[in-house]
Amino acid sequence: MSQRTAELLTQRKSLPIWSGRESLVRAVINNDTVVILGETGSGKTTQVPQFLLESQNFKGVIAVTQPRRVAAISLAGRVSAEQGTILGERVGYAVRFDEKSGPETKIKYLTDGMLGRELMSDSLLSRYSVIIVDEAHERTLRTDLLFSALKRIQRHRNSGKRADTKGKAPEHDKENPLTIIIMSATLDAERFSNFFNGAPMLYVKGRQHPVKVYYTENYQEDYVESALRTLYQIHMSHGKGDVLVFLSGQDEIESLNKSINIYADQMPEGKMKILTCPLYAALPQHKQHKIFIPAPPDTRKVVLATNIAETSITIPGIKFVIDTGVAKEKSFVTQNHKGTGMDVLLVKPISKSSARQRAGRAGREGPGVCFRLYTEEAFKNFREAATPEIQRCNLASAVLTLKCFDIDPTSEEYLDPPSEESVQSSLLILYGLQALDEKGKVTALGKQMANFPLDPPWACALLASQEYSCTAEVIKIVSFLSSTSKLLMEPTSEERDTVADMRNKFRHSSGDHLTHLNILHAYEEVKAGNGGLDGPGSKRALKDWCQKHYINERAFAEAGDIAQQLALACRRVGIDPTTSCGDETDGVLKSILRGTFQNCALIQQDGTYRQIVSRLPVKIHPSSTLFGRKVPAIVYDELIFTNNTYARTVSALEQSWIAELAIHNRRSA
Ligand code: ADP
Ligand code: MG
Repeated sequence: MSQRTAELLTQRKSLPIWSGRESLVRAVINNDTVVILGETGSGKTTQVPQFLLESQNFKGVIAVTQPRRVAAISLAGRVSAEQGTILGERVGYAVRFDEKSGPETKIKYLTDGMLGRELMSDSLLSRYSVIIVDEAHERTLRTDLLFSALKRIQRHRNSGKRADTKGKAPEHDKENPLTIIIMSATLDAERFSNFFNGAPMLYVKGRQHPVKVYYTENYQEDYVESALRTLYQIHMSHGKGDVLVFLSGQDEIESLNKSINIYADQMPEGKMKILTCPLYAALPQHKQHKIFIPAPPDTRKVVLATNIAETSITIPGIKFVIDTGVAKEKSFVTQNHKGTGMDVLLVKPISKSSARQRAGRAGREGPGVCFRLYTEEAFKNFREAATPEIQRCNLASAVLTLKCFDIDPTSEEYLDPPSEESVQSSLLILYGLQALDEKGKVTALGKQMANFPLDPPWACALLASQEYSCTAEVIKIVSFLSSTSKLLMEPTSEERDTVADMRNKFRHSSGDHLTHLNILHAYEEVKAGNGGLDGPGSKRALKDWCQKHYINERAFAEAGDIAQQLALACRRVGIDPTTSCGDETDGVLKSILRGTFQNCALIQQDGTYRQIVSRLPVKIHPSSTLFGRKVPAIVYDELIFTNNTYARTVSALEQSWIAELAIHNRRSA
């Protein structure tokens, strides 16, 4: 055993879960399903799969699902190190568009979505002996769907006959039974147990020290500003201890990060230094490590995180928590007309349960303090727990998957069923995309769509690109829009005009989609330059170019990876991903329209735009190259709800294309 592995073993042994490992393993061997409940940081996610592997009772792979990709990647790295192996060998991970695992992989961390996709090729998930559904309390759509599928699979793979003498392994009719473990950080988990036929619940005692909670006197309109003030109050008046700030998303994190560092530079000599560490879903892998490294002496670490730090990732050293009381939540907004709607990400007040989890992060290693940037009254009005995502978001992709298995989404067994209205709306969207026929049966086209790791509208656009010979272009655009990093960075108000001038040369008259494509082509040209270490084409040259144009270089890398995966998926269904339309770009927009006709709006007599399907009035976002222009019709990527409804990433359409689409749809129906 290397020194590092030995060190980690000592750390493992000090986790609260360690002492109970034998009884835990026994319970798992003796039951089809167990529910494990325990305080965040007690060692559930990293240790349970290792205990099971080390017990040598399970032949197949042990899967651990996570709602977030950052968590899956980071946990796999940690557990691989604890095992003393190279990541991707004994311990691996699989997230959308990225995988590190191999034939010898025994423990695999993967997003719940990825496991859902594996169902498509192996409907019994037969290579897994144990499936651990982690962070079950979050109740993401994918986790909930997984529950339904796993119950179905278990019925198939396990005889259900349990040994009646304690300690004796159960008998199964089949060779390859499936054990399910559900892990949750909150204690209200009877629901999980009931759903899985009264599965036993095991409690892991954590170490929770008292946390003093403070509220604000008044409502804080600008909570980012308020977080900045609170941070400096802590910094000036409290001794050692790191700070964890909860914010709603990457943009808020980046903005607070900037302001903290501006003030940090002005700190008097001799004062403790501040080291900021952002943590959010799109954070590149190599930057995640910083979070776990103890701050140097005389430095206070300040972690700026989304709700990922609530339960998914435990950060050592935290003594102070600043809770802004908000999180981004996906919601399905249905407009006047029944049967249509769209997913939007809205910043919303968190639940009481989340607020308690956040406060709890301050008391992991000793007594802590939590500053809630909202009033006690506001806290009392928070929901007890968040509504399960299945009851508030777009189900198109989920419904399509079920349809591919010939399962009626209205008769599936759910932990909490989705509303009938949202199932109907998804059926309509899928019908509109011609993924379903009028009898509700999945079409050949629908099956093809389900094969892509994309939402059905984007899969539809990609398939349509074949008809217009522009697959290469559509892949690139879809990759940008699917990537978690934004391509264009927001310049400061002083720099706005200069940056706009710099970017002007990329502008495509049709709008943002093709402007994005132009930017990518320009980047590729810079990259192709061949000027040695510092000359054209070098890393330095690319970085300078991106900085000059306020372009996020990370987005190219991420989109590039996605594009590669999509190209592979295309080849699998016999589409040549390199087919390009050159300068004849109308087909690109027509393909996008085919998939996202829901996101189409027409100009009105008064010059405003209205969405075709829902009649919702929308404005073009000021960041768009089409801002201030009047065109007959637009298609957009997303809506942002502030005081207005703004469409972002917008392109102009010709009205005749919409008529053409209607004719196409009627003909193929
Ligand atoms: P739980 O799932 O019960 O919340 P985990 O198994 O995730 O607990 O974490 C157990 C401990 O392992 C935590 O104290 C955490 O600090 C540590 N840990 C987890 N992931 C990493 C990592 N990537 N790097 C360093 N330490 C980690
Ligand atoms: Mg965990």
